Amino acid sequence: MLEVSKELCIGCGICEDNCPFGAITIEDGLAIIGDTCTLCGACVESCEVEALSLDVESKQVQDDLASWAGILVFCEYRRGELSQVSLELLGIGRELADTRGVQLSALLLGHETGQTAQLLIGHGADVVYVADHEALREFRDDSYSGVMAAIIREYKPEIVLAGATAIGRSFIPGVATTLNAGLTADCTKLEIREEDGVLLQTRPAFGGNIMATIVSESTRPQMATVRPNVMKELEFDGSRKGNIVEVSPTDSQLKSRVKILESVVAAGGHVNIQEADILVSGGRGLESEKGFELIRELAESMGGKVSASRAVVDAGWIPYPHQVGQTGKTVAPKLYIACGISGAVQHVAGMQSAETIIAINRDEHASIFNVADIGIVGDLFEIIPKLIRKIGERRKS
Ligand SMILES: Cc1cc2nc3c(=O)[nH]c(=O)nc-3n(C[C@H](O)[C@H](O)[C@H](O)COP(=O)(O)OP(=O)(O)OC[C@H]3O[C@@H](n4cnc5c(N)ncnc54)[C@H](O)[C@@H]3O)c2cc1C
Repeated sequence: MLEVSKELCIGCGICEDNCPFGAITIEDGLAIIGDTCTLCGACVESCEVEALSLDVESKQVQDDLASWAGILVFCEYRRGELSQVSLELLGIGRELADTRGVQLSALLLGHETGQTAQLLIGHGADVVYVADHEALREFRDDSYSGVMAAIIREYKPEIVLAGATAIGRSFIPGVATTLNAGLTADCTKLEIREEDGVLLQTRPAFGGNIMATIVSESTRPQMATVRPNVMKELEFDGSRKGNIVEVSPTDSQLKSRVKILESVVAAGGHVNIQEADILVSGGRGLESEKGFELIRELAESMGGKVSASRAVVDAGWIPYPHQVGQTGKTVAPKLYIACGISGAVQHVAGMQSAETIIAINRDEHASIFNVADIGIVGDLFEIIPKLIRKIGERRKS
């Protein structure tokens, strides 16, 4: 609880200025704490007269913390395919489990999952809980949440990881709420705190301008989502041994208020820039939707795909599935060519893991050059046609 001492407060307003959540107002010379207070403590540190105090002891601590152990990774399986991020999560999950000296388990929900559980063991899982049921063939928030929450309650993992995919973002917050657990979305780094084994969950905050490390010390499980292409998967090892546990979900866990009449793949939904080896990305420097013709031509000449900055997606020049960045997709191609993109932090957050980055920009001071391996200063409308021509000539010879 945050308390204001009426005796000490002088109503100077420093705490009001320092509150990142706008939760403090000064009324009649006294600081008043509003509903948006998150108990972050920024005001306590800023108060020069020590009129504010945060009673951390009053934080509710779950009384069975010690009975939670191990790491559970939700592995997304849909229409006969396992998502790539599941394997990446097993990679970081294995690292965390080894540091903690605990078991790494995987949770597989779906129908007709075949040999997928074995694949998960080969990629690092010690145990795979499989709920293979007709009612889980298609994703539904409520039935997936019901089954996952029940499995977490039964096996009590101390850490639960899931992909920050459309499915993960849709139902994982519901699971966390059901369990009264802390959840950090879109983590870019996960580590174990040496002194007490707590999960350190790092993610961009305040529009990507700072990296915040978040801990859920008082509740279990500690839940985090991670975007695709951020963590590294382990190489498949067919000799790894593990247990497969068949789980039979109950009717009440599977119960859903959603009836699926038909599933239709959205137009443009097939665009998967996250799996492309080569991406040619266009930004506002293209000047209009027509500019993308040049980008498409360059991408096609190299067998690559087209991606974009948010500015051009917002302008309606190209659909959202092509967007790279903090509110778009995280990509890690072998080659990323940024054309007419300034290199805002929110864009760079989604493409900095590319093996080689080439930037074309007419402004030699553009921030994109700070992350580029090769920078070309000039007009993209002159440079790209030359590149296309050169690639064509090389192909012929
Ligand atoms: C919360 C939040 C989330 C965001 N998420 C994302 C995100 O996911 N992805 C994202 O991309 N952005 C995101 N943004 C927006 C981001 O801050 C930038 O506004 C955006 O990336 C800018 O896009 P741009 O580089 O295409 O445009 P600009 O910043 O306008 O840059 C255009 C560049 O083109 C160059 N140029 C112009 N003409 C030419 C030419 N003829 N030849 C060569 N170069 C030329 C200019 O020098 C300039 O550097 C987010 C912002 C916020 C606040």
